[in-house]
Amino acid sequence: MGRVAIVTGGTRGIGKAISIGLKRAGYQPAATYQGNDEAAKAFNAETGIRVYKFDVADYDHCVAAVKRIAGEMGPVDVLVNNAGITRDATLHKMSPGQWKEVIDTNLTSCFNMCRCVIESMRERGFGRIVNIGSINGQAGQYGQVNYAAAKSGIHGFTKALAQEGAAKGITVNAIAPGYINTDMVRAVPAPVLEKIVAKIPVGRLGEAEEIARTVLFLVADEAGFVTGSTVSVNGGQHMY
Ligand code: NDP
Repeated sequence: MGRVAIVTGGTRGIGKAISIGLKRAGYQPAATYQGNDEAAKAFNAETGIRVYKFDVADYDHCVAAVKRIAGEMGPVDVLVNNAGITRDATLHKMSPGQWKEVIDTNLTSCFNMCRCVIESMRERGFGRIVNIGSINGQAGQYGQVNYAAAKSGIHGFTKALAQEGAAKGITVNAIAPGYINTDMVRAVPAPVLEKIVAKIPVGRLGEAEEIARTVLFLVADEAGFVTGSTVSVNGGQHMY
């Protein structure tokens, strides 16, 4: 049986492509989601991949869900922290609720989920963790201090945990996607999106499968020397 891989937010968008890519590559993925039962049901019918509903921002929910997944599928070897949201507003109009929701869902979730799998990975001497950051965590973005702070935090989190896991066979890497053609980006008003695409050197949005491909590279057994890195997949929009 292939390695067990949890993909948070794995039923839609980028996460869906990651779950499908992992299954095709021989892994046993578990795709998690928060509330869109319809999308999760359709995803499960289409792919046969198990789905688990819980809030990644809630530590106790994560503990219970990871225990259930490990009980049903086996110990977790691969964790992809992909679930994320936006609640955009300029700072002078942003509510504490908008700030907290994004930090909890996009950043605290990484602590919650990693904390639930790390002891078992350390005991077994193997683990692959990939955190999905963002170009906007690297470069900042108008109207997104909450999102940019959370995603930027992911990049620091990744480097620190990579150091802790290195001697135990656990790699921890991040991917910083540019603008990818998913519901999240399709929600951006068309004139704004046109301006964004005009700034992408390859001249188009990315596809979710292009992020999935990067995840597959990072989680491979053979990728044990790649850790603490952030891989930018952004069509050349931001280079540093
Ligand atoms: P989508 O909005 O298409 O999908 C988000 C997924 O995350 C859904 O499965 C959703 O569940 C799940 N989710 C959201 N909140 C929670 C929560 N609290 N608990 C559990 N699951 C949750 O997002 P994308 O595919 O566009 O984005 C995926 C990741 O990539 C995010 O972290 C995003 O920030 C990042 N990213 C995206 C970019 C893009 O251009 N699309 C660019 C850079 C980074 P449900 O279906 O139940 O709502």
